[in-house]
Amino acid sequence: MSATPEQALEQAALAGIHRLPISTPFAVGKVNCYLIEDEPLTLVDTGPNSGKGLDELTSMLAERGHAIEDLGLIIVTHQHIDHLGLVEILVEHSGAEVAALGAAAQRLADFDEDAEREDAFAVEVMLRNGIPEEVTVALRSVSRSFRGWGSHVTVTKPLEDGHLLPLSGRTLQALHRPGHSPSDTVFWDEERRILIAGDHLLGHISSNPLISLPLDGSERRTQALVAYRESLAKTREMPAEIVLPGHGEPVTDHAALIDTRFAATERRKEKIYRLIAAEPRSGYELAQSIWGNVAVTQAFLTLSEVIGHVDILVNEGRVRESLDHGVVRYETT
Ligand SMILES: [Zn+2]
Repeated sequence: MSATPEQALEQAALAGIHRLPISTPFAVGKVNCYLIEDEPLTLVDTGPNSGKGLDELTSMLAERGHAIEDLGLIIVTHQHIDHLGLVEILVEHSGAEVAALGAAAQRLADFDEDAEREDAFAVEVMLRNGIPEEVTVALRSVSRSFRGWGSHVTVTKPLEDGHLLPLSGRTLQALHRPGHSPSDTVFWDEERRILIAGDHLLGHISSNPLISLPLDGSERRTQALVAYRESLAKTREMPAEIVLPGHGEPVTDHAALIDTRFAATERRKEKIYRLIAAEPRSGYELAQSIWGNVAVTQAFLTLSEVIGHVDILVNEGRVRESLDHGVVRYETT
């Protein structure tokens, strides 16, 4: 029998890892930060850049007898603003080091320019996949309005895949697990079999394989879902007892959960194949066939889902792209 989420949180707490849920303005709800009571005092993720988040974090640290000034290390799991918005403010108060994937460091440092570039890229992808221009304009302004919840981040401890991050009472291994975002990094405490996973694996919802600019500065889009499946396959083989995710409850049966994610991808992929076989369609038309007319704010998420699955079909040689007045249409081979 695997442990319940409550037991898992208790077990993590006994190992000095405490979940601190911080409010966000996003549909996903609260974001989980994790305080590791070790030397240095370490915080994994920070929550978004907001007064409310800072207040919540301050009081949750105080409940455990700590102040923000005591933080010695901040670990960033990935590039999304709900996870890192408070980093610079916490660093100003504490002088903490900041550890994150080295390959993402430049983008994290150039937050504003990077967000503009990412948004322009998203608009291009959406137009190319048949999303109406007015939807892309609306989405871009929504994205700009949320930007204040983020912040640039200066990484002082750049990590590479497999790097060991020693604290005095434990060692965390940084493992690059791209897919949900290109910079997703999980932190593995092999001795305690605890994996701090950010948004790489969530218990209650599947992590969106968001289309994103690659970390290497090139303009070619990544195959986010293809990368994500490869990452999940690696995580599946790890002997983790507890996975501590960036949102929601701990996962205590990660291999079984990953198998249900794989099965769901397979089912959706075949559904999309049948739709394409019935009639060639754009990414937008596929998203509409599956989800109907979704809210404007969901248009990029659903398109990312569709394209992720179509990428697999293209790689399998079953589907190909054709270009119709600047819009990609998918057809069977
Ligand atoms: Zn995320």
